Amino acid sequence: MNSDPFSCLCCSGALGQLLYSPALSKKLTKISAEHQAPAGFSCEAVIDRRDFVKGSLAVAGTIGALSFSATKANAQAAKTRVYRNGTILTVDETFSEAEAVAIRENKILAVGEEIEVLQLAGSDAEIIDLKGKVLLPGFIDAHTHVVSGSIVAGLMDYVGMARFGTAEEVLAHLKQRATQVKPGEWIAARNFDPSVQTGPNALTFVELDAVSKDNPVFVMNASGHLAYANSKAFEVAGITEDVINPPGAEYVRGEDGKLNGVMKNQVAFQPVFQANPAMQNVNPVAALVELTQTWSKLGLTTISELALGALSSGYDDAELLFAAGRTGDLASRIRAYPFYPYDEAWDASPIHPGQGDDIVRIAGYKLVADGSNQGFTGLQREPYLGTDNYGLAYTSPEDLKRLAVKRAGQGWQLAIHGNGDAGIDNVLDAVQAVKDAGIDVAKVRPRIEHCSILHDEQIVRMKDLGISASFLIGHVHFWGVAMRDEVFGEEKVELLDRAKSCEDQGIGYTLHSDFTVTDPDPLHMIEMAVTRKTWKDPDYVLAPQERISVESAIRALTIEAAWQLNSEHEVGSLETGKLADFVILDKDPRKVDPDTIKDIRVLETWMNGEQRYSA
Ligand SMILES: [Zn+2]
Ligand SMILES: [Zn+2]
Repeated sequence: MNSDPFSCLCCSGALGQLLYSPALSKKLTKISAEHQAPAGFSCEAVIDRRDFVKGSLAVAGTIGALSFSATKANAQAAKTRVYRNGTILTVDETFSEAEAVAIRENKILAVGEEIEVLQLAGSDAEIIDLKGKVLLPGFIDAHTHVVSGSIVAGLMDYVGMARFGTAEEVLAHLKQRATQVKPGEWIAARNFDPSVQTGPNALTFVELDAVSKDNPVFVMNASGHLAYANSKAFEVAGITEDVINPPGAEYVRGEDGKLNGVMKNQVAFQPVFQANPAMQNVNPVAALVELTQTWSKLGLTTISELALGALSSGYDDAELLFAAGRTGDLASRIRAYPFYPYDEAWDASPIHPGQGDDIVRIAGYKLVADGSNQGFTGLQREPYLGTDNYGLAYTSPEDLKRLAVKRAGQGWQLAIHGNGDAGIDNVLDAVQAVKDAGIDVAKVRPRIEHCSILHDEQIVRMKDLGISASFLIGHVHFWGVAMRDEVFGEEKVELLDRAKSCEDQGIGYTLHSDFTVTDPDPLHMIEMAVTRKTWKDPDYVLAPQERISVESAIRALTIEAAWQLNSEHEVGSLETGKLADFVILDKDPRKVDPDTIKDIRVLETWMNGEQRYSA
């Protein structure tokens, strides 16, 4: 495993910086300017003003029906539909099953006993026979990065461990791609991870020139701090043997002293990445819309942006989301968190908690305590295995407290990234400071992002302070063996992603993908949390005592996630009056072999009363 420290790809905002270009910046400014000076009356303006006047999250649900998408749904699907004769999991307080559910326009009209639901639905309702299939609330990923992620996903092919086990398979795939592309067209791929994918430690000119000599090839490491290119890509980008390393970055050279195609740190590979002409043609709104449409195949109906501002260094990111919302084509709702490095930009912008509508809304504020454990930058109480490295405090404890008190005092929810145990100590101290400042912590709903390493006494502090957890469960499945053998050792790794211990203390938690770190497949995340089996060694169950039930895992990806995103009043469960977001699965995740949950098929996905996907 490469043990050069690197930061959390997501929470460092690194993708946004990688994508930054004057052309893209101009596009974002244009989107923003068009919206801030509308030509005439706009429905969105009404929503914004009402939201502003009432100024609270609690009323946001009542505004939802006014949104453009809802209007579209009204026109398209005014009919009432009743679903019956299947397993209907409401994911309400008691995880009750219902005999039937009725949908009218974009809302759930009724749910419960069939006879009553049919009566309320009226005689002209369309009756749909589920034929034993399983209907449940649409899945919610409480922590993704869709603004930069949608552009990256549009430009680069995923070649990570969830798809290929070895470097050989990755290279074979790229060679296959090379036979399909036009002359000169770039072959770009992401999420290659030699720390877990078997094969060489790096891809060099040797491997990538064998993929293609005529087409530029660019592959980014899963960490986002390393990238690999072929000779053609260097040629097109104008990187020659006399290139000088930028400060803190490196164009790596082989034993012969010549460039070998490996690049360390973004500053080095950004010019190569940006030399791809596809970068100039990026349409960020279209990329986002397309991503949500792709994800509806996975059953997602609400997703999130946990580093808002990373693309444009401020408010234009929010305008991009609102513009995507106004198209009426988003297949999932988006909840966004302004990102702390742009603190001054936010102060100078109109952004505020609850801004937006039920489709796109500003939910909370994002802070970061430390780095990444697999990147050896998560802040630890003890040094990393076999080193004297304790990781890094990305924000000093004093600054973390100051920012937490400032933003919580303004009515923001806090989502604070904490990976290492000492990083999480700093998060707990920051929330304590919020409480000591006389702020009602229950209203702040503080959540710890990734929340990877937890000691018993930290779980008690979380409970006392009213903090919830959001686990990147892929840390267990994909990196579990590396976490044990390279990062923490056998004892400390038992403290990774303690979902069951949190549950036993009555602490709410969610499961997330942190896309682009892992791909947001809710059924796979359920399987990972239920089995805690590791991808590298299927016989190794990482901390079996932390396995949770299928029901708990479903909650973590529906109602708990809705709660963390301040949206439990409108989505997350099938209850009368909530928005009609649901999925139909071919099997009940509670009734299959847990090792096969990820194989369950999503048959249909509905968001806001409209069908967004059908198998
Ligand atoms: Zn993240
Ligand atoms: Zn993070």
